Amino acid sequence: MKMSGKLHGKWRSESRAKSKPGHGSEKPAYSFTPGRIPYIVRHIFEFLKIASKKYVEFVEELIYHLKGGIGLKIRFLGTGAAEGIPSFGCTCPRCTLAREKKGPNVRGRSSLLIEAEDQRILVDTPPEISLQMNQADIFDLTAILLSHEHFDHIGGLTEFEYWNQVLPIFTGYDVLPKLRLTPRLKSRALLSDFHSHSRLHFGGLTVMPFKVIHHVPCYGFEFEAGGARIVHFADSDSALSNLHRHLAQEADAVIFHTPTFDAKRHHLCVQDVLALVQDWSLKHAVITHINHNNINHEELMARVSSMGVTVAYDSLILEI
Ligand SMILES: [Zn+2]
Ligand SMILES: [Zn+2]
Ligand SMILES: [Zn+2]
Repeated sequence: MKMSGKLHGKWRSESRAKSKPGHGSEKPAYSFTPGRIPYIVRHIFEFLKIASKKYVEFVEELIYHLKGGIGLKIRFLGTGAAEGIPSFGCTCPRCTLAREKKGPNVRGRSSLLIEAEDQRILVDTPPEISLQMNQADIFDLTAILLSHEHFDHIGGLTEFEYWNQVLPIFTGYDVLPKLRLTPRLKSRALLSDFHSHSRLHFGGLTVMPFKVIHHVPCYGFEFEAGGARIVHFADSDSALSNLHRHLAQEADAVIFHTPTFDAKRHHLCVQDVLALVQDWSLKHAVITHINHNNINHEELMARVSSMGVTVAYDSLILEI
């Protein structure tokens, strides 16, 4: 009621202000004259605009619930490559810029949290994982998935010997023997291995690991919940197969690790992803795992966002 009163007051003051001198001021404010028609039309137009916006919101909400109402949420806890940015001991321009400007140019080593309903899956445990989880206020996990044995992906695993609950940890059958666990963590972790294309079910969230080429055994993951699908390629080489293409096509988002802008051994680079977006007609690509030889965040955004590529940064949340 308060709002309609305000609208009425606005109507009167506008109609007076636009009246011709000597004529408008003599007429009662509520009288109808042909001169008011533009105002009536404008208010009807504003009403229709609000009504159509509400209608779109209603339809979106309805579709979300028809899809099962859960969807997927991705939280990027760290988005740097092996050294992180700024890399300690490094005074290169990128690391110096990150120290001075902070913000999205500072990148912890890569990890992400996938959430669906009440499930929370942590992908990889970089050395600074306890800091990342404290900053993101994460106090419970359903499980940890590990992509491969490199230090920037598992260096913080032993931090979980102090975790508040028994923790399921999954990794490839050929990665598990490479893990170095403390006796305390061994006694508190439920360690399981998986094979490529097996399916892991966590409530309404399904995860399928798949092999990628790297210089050690390495796994990407496909996440599916409530009709939403995300594919995470981990530290994949640029050598990809039709199998990878089929997984990526039609996915709602595809996450690639791209340390550098131009080609680098054992890894995809930003240029490779730009080519894949076109060749594979990807709906939405996200790049992460970025190192100090890459260009800075703002320039990277300017170079790739028009191609439908999102540049992840620490703390970015995407909801699918
Ligand atoms: Zn890595
Ligand atoms: Zn540097
Ligand atoms: Zn690696």
